[in-house]
Amino acid sequence: MYDEDEVTITPGMQAYIDKNAAYLDKRAKYIREVVKGWKFDTIAVHGLYSVEDAIEDYQGAIIEPVFMSASQAYRDSDEMECALAYLIPTWCYSRIANPSTYYYEWALALLEGYGFDGETSCCSTSSGMAAISTATQPFLVHQQEHVHEPRNFVATAQCYGGTFQLFTVRYMQERGIECRWVENPQNIEEWACKIDKNTRFLYGELPSNPAQGFFDIQAVADLAHSHNLPLICDTTVATPALLRPICHGADIVVQSATKTLTSSGFGVCGALIARHNLTTNIDNDDLKKDFPLYVKYLPNRDTGPNLHPMQAIMTLNDMRTLRSKVDLLSRNTMKVAEALQNHPQIESVAYLGLPDHPLHELASRYMWLVDAEHDEQYGKPVNRYGHLMSFCVKGGAEATRTFFDALQRIWRATDLGRIKSVATIPAISTHQQQGEEGRKLAHIPPNMVRLCVGGEHADDTLADLDQALAQAGTATSARVPSAPA
Ligand SMILES: *Cc1c(COP(=O)(O)O)cnc(C)c1O
Repeated sequence: MYDEDEVTITPGMQAYIDKNAAYLDKRAKYIREVVKGWKFDTIAVHGLYSVEDAIEDYQGAIIEPVFMSASQAYRDSDEMECALAYLIPTWCYSRIANPSTYYYEWALALLEGYGFDGETSCCSTSSGMAAISTATQPFLVHQQEHVHEPRNFVATAQCYGGTFQLFTVRYMQERGIECRWVENPQNIEEWACKIDKNTRFLYGELPSNPAQGFFDIQAVADLAHSHNLPLICDTTVATPALLRPICHGADIVVQSATKTLTSSGFGVCGALIARHNLTTNIDNDDLKKDFPLYVKYLPNRDTGPNLHPMQAIMTLNDMRTLRSKVDLLSRNTMKVAEALQNHPQIESVAYLGLPDHPLHELASRYMWLVDAEHDEQYGKPVNRYGHLMSFCVKGGAEATRTFFDALQRIWRATDLGRIKSVATIPAISTHQQQGEEGRKLAHIPPNMVRLCVGGEHADDTLADLDQALAQAGTATSARVPSAPA
């Protein structure tokens, strides 16, 4: 990770290196022999924070420590030099790392790597967007000094509004890096025909927010690897409780941990998780070997999109019950989607869990409630489709606004993955900035409502929707001129 010629290793430094190598061996053994044997829930609850850690280092505290400290002190100059040269595990300065973000990162690395026969690691970021920009930028560097070669990447057009802006405005318009949009990502040919020798990575969001696009991860990963490229997936909507792309061949996962992972809504938070030894045409061994560690130690050290330790622990605390929460939200969403399908004020309902959704079969191959087969409630594999659904209200944009304004318990907010139900009209909120054409590309009509069903009883959520839809119905008929008296 450092330039070896710049550091002369003294015997004192070597002692620190040896001591820390022993610690790393012990940790690797603990992960391999203990943690990898646990079920998903146990990893979510404990992560890498052990009784031994607590007793030895943190006075027995059963909750991971919040280290509100900007920097770390060293015993002597030897330890300091080793640390700053990244020769030993260290956190140095909280812009680079911190003991609180450490436990958050390990929990996520292990959850995304659950069921994967290989090593994963994680780099925490201050937001989901920070995760996406720091996961993509290292692949967009100029490879030859003084030669500004053309660069492109291929991405699903159905993606989060912020991602669309990052790729079109920041990368394409401002830096001349071409983003080649895939409109029908289930069509592998469309991905394939957009790749050339200047392509740096493939990027896909699934299920996409809000349109619930989906694609065959394994097939796209195979395609990426056949061109020596990595596949980066945004599975914020699914969370590792339903979908772990790394198990299906993806190289990197980005998470807006702001959403379901922090379902309480306490703050903004992100992460990128990757398999070790990823596939890329970038000539950089550190980047290939352990991408999150590379990003943390070098590019993010220099750009500073780090996560606050307090936020890391709050998110970690929400993540402990991820599986049961995602199951509850998914079941509630299914009930709401089924009921809305037959509602006279509704034009259409889109939810991957509905059998008539065009991507239902494909999504059903990938979206499984983790460990349902080990759960006494289910005892067999069970499909779950998450908390995100959308529907179109009859009567166009105006009736949609009337309905929206009449909601009483469902919050009007550009938010998702909450324990509280939240709704938005994407065309006037999350997808406002990308304009009419961009919305058409992403399949976002003006009468579409995105609904994220929370943990309330589904009957109460439906009652709120019902009364608001009744108002939209009244508003539509009220505009019909009444017959002359
Ligand atoms: C919200 C969201 C993001 C951006 O995350 P922030 O934490 O808001 O920066 C990225 N992708 C998806 C799918 C999202 O829903």
